[in-house]
Amino acid sequence: MTDTTIPQTDSLMASTYARLPVVFERGRGTMLWDTAGRRYIDFLAGIAVCGLGHAHPALQQALAEQAGRLVHVCNLYYTIPQVELAAWLVGHSFADRVFFCNSGAEANEAAIKLARKVFQDRGETDRYRIIAMEQSFHGRTMGSLSATGQDKIKKGFYPLLEGFDFVPFDDIAALRNALDETVCAVMLEPIQGEGGVVCPADDYLQQVRALCDEAGALLILDEIQTGMGRTGRLFAHEHSGITPDIMTLAKALGNGLPIGAMLARETAARAFDAGAHGTTFGGTPLITAGALAVVQTIEKEGIVAQAAETGAYFKTQLEALKERHRAVEAVRGQGLLLGLKLNCEGAPIVDQCLARGFVINCVQGNVLRFAPPLIIGVHEIDALMQCLDEILTEA
Ligand SMILES: *Cc1c(COP(=O)(O)O)cnc(C)c1O
Repeated sequence: MTDTTIPQTDSLMASTYARLPVVFERGRGTMLWDTAGRRYIDFLAGIAVCGLGHAHPALQQALAEQAGRLVHVCNLYYTIPQVELAAWLVGHSFADRVFFCNSGAEANEAAIKLARKVFQDRGETDRYRIIAMEQSFHGRTMGSLSATGQDKIKKGFYPLLEGFDFVPFDDIAALRNALDETVCAVMLEPIQGEGGVVCPADDYLQQVRALCDEAGALLILDEIQTGMGRTGRLFAHEHSGITPDIMTLAKALGNGLPIGAMLARETAARAFDAGAHGTTFGGTPLITAGALAVVQTIEKEGIVAQAAETGAYFKTQLEALKERHRAVEAVRGQGLLLGLKLNCEGAPIVDQCLARGFVINCVQGNVLRFAPPLIIGVHEIDALMQCLDEILTEA
C-alpha cells in the first residue's frame, strides 16, 4: 500500500532517486494503475523503454515459455535465443556483430573499450582519446560517466577516466578543431535526450561522419534512447543516411527487460577477441528470448511507421500549444521523442499532470519530455494536450 511503500522506500533504499509520490502496481498497453486504483496514461514509458507498452502478450508469452525451458547457462556455451536476437539486429542494421550486456551504461563501456582496443591492437597506443559532446548523457558507470558532458552528473566522482574531451553538440567547427591523430572515436547521441531533447541540424551527423572518416576516427552513436523506433525510424541515424562504426542500444530493446547491446562493423568488432570483454548475464536465454519477441513484434505490427505517424501528429499538437501559451518557448524532438521547452520550471507541471492522470517527465529543469509507448493513440495525445492547455492557462 502507498502509505507504507513510500516511507519504507525512502528509509530503506539508497536515496539516489527523487521519486514522485505514486506507487504503480499494474500496467496494460499505454495505461498504468496505482495502488489506489487510479488510472494514468503513460507518456514516458519508463523513459523511452516500454515501446510496446505494458504487459504485452507477446513478451509475456516468450518469457513464460523460456523461463520454463532455460534461464541461464553463461557465455561459456552457445544458446539459441541470443543468436536469434543477434541475427535480427545485424539483419536490420549496419552492424556485423553484436555484444550483449545488461544496461545502456554497460553498452557504452563496451563501445569505449572496443574503440580503444581497435587502435591499441594496431600499436597506436597514443590514439585513445574520445571526443564527446557537452550536455551528453551516456550513463553512470565510471567509463560512461567520463563520456557524459554534464558536470552536475559527474560532481563528486572525480577523477574520472582519462582521455575524454568535450565539444558543443551540433557545432561542426568545434569538432573539426578537436580532432587529431590522438582521437580514437567520436561519441554522441543522434538526439540528446537527457540533455533536453536537443536535435542537431539536419546535416550534422553527415558532417560528423565525414570528419571521422578524414581523421581516421571511429564514430560511436549512442542510440540507447533514440533506437528501436522511438524517432520514427528503427534507428535515429537512418534519418541522416549515414551509418556509425559502433552503436549502443538498451532501453526499448527489451521493453523493460535488462538488456543492452553494442553493435559494430567487422573492422572494429574483430578487436574484441576471446577474453577481451564479457559479462555473466549478457544475452541470457531468458532476456534475449524476451527481447526477440519485442523486436519481432515491433516489425510484425509496423510499430516504427506508426511511431513516425503518431509522432508527427503529436508534434503538430505541441506546436499549436506553443502558439497559445507564452510559457512555451520551443517544441523539440522527432517521432515520439518530443520536448516542450518552457520559460518556467517544469517540475510543477509534471506534478499537476500526474494529479490529473498523465505521466510525463522533465529534463534540464524546464524541458517537458514526452516518450510514450509507440502504440500511443491520437485520442490519448488529445487528452494530454487538453490537460497541458488547462495547466498552462491556470499558470
Ligand atoms: C538511459 C541512457 C543511457 C544509460 O542507460 P542505463 O541503462 O541507465 O545504464 C545511456 N545513454 C543514453 C542516451 C540514455 O538515454
